[in-house]
Amino acid sequence: MDRNRAIADLRWVIAYWPDLHDSRLHGTPTPWRRPQLTPEQLVERDHAAWLERLERTGDALGASRAPLRVPVLDVLTDLLTDAVDLADELAAALTCPSMEPPSTGLADPRPYLEFAARRLAEVDDADLGAWAYERSRVMVATAARALGLVYDGQVLDVECPWCRGITPETPGGGARTWQVRDLFGGRSCGHGQPYRRFCTECEQQIVITCENAGCEPPLGCAGTWWRGQPCWPLHDWDWLAEQVRAIEAYVS
Ligand SMILES: [Zn+2]
Ligand SMILES: [Zn+2]
Repeated sequence: MDRNRAIADLRWVIAYWPDLHDSRLHGTPTPWRRPQLTPEQLVERDHAAWLERLERTGDALGASRAPLRVPVLDVLTDLLTDAVDLADELAAALTCPSMEPPSTGLADPRPYLEFAARRLAEVDDADLGAWAYERSRVMVATAARALGLVYDGQVLDVECPWCRGITPETPGGGARTWQVRDLFGGRSCGHGQPYRRFCTECEQQIVITCENAGCEPPLGCAGTWWRGQPCWPLHDWDWLAEQVRAIEAYVS
């Protein structure tokens, strides 16, 4: 249900806010937990490292010596703006008092996210839930991208080596059919954590699935199956990345 998904998204952003906030300082390594799936991603990462080095040394013409990482600051202010908007619009839709606006563009968005999550939990309105979910997805994507994290529903920029992304909509192939799934995301935690994804006691099942109905990897290549689709749990991701690289090397 969209409303619950939106609430889970908001809790996700709340949980990762401290990481995001810490990553604004130079010298704090950005956590890199995304599987290395394509050479492009490696290049992208090198490029990011190069930009960061440039920023730090101030070698570039006109480079600022600002102590803060500017792209991360943008992410922080964007998230705050989105969180405040969501909280305000939910308050308006439910005709309840809204929150005080933030004092600065670098204020903590968590109270606004918390407020929005609580308002959503109070009303069972499918339209409002769907509307909030659209917004919460954007926030999760923004934060996850800044932190290099995978998140539920993330589409990977990879062509499946087995079905080649051939779907009814893209008969020529090339569709991006791989998605990250948090299979137990809908369950709740029995250990008092607001979001089970961050509970160390709850079992986690994060997988990549190929969503293409026509995908049938040969025996031994599908890690396992989920709702009729091949899926690969975390421990298979290095192997999966190798398959993608091998195919790409063969094709090019
Ligand atoms: Zn496939
Ligand atoms: Zn738990």
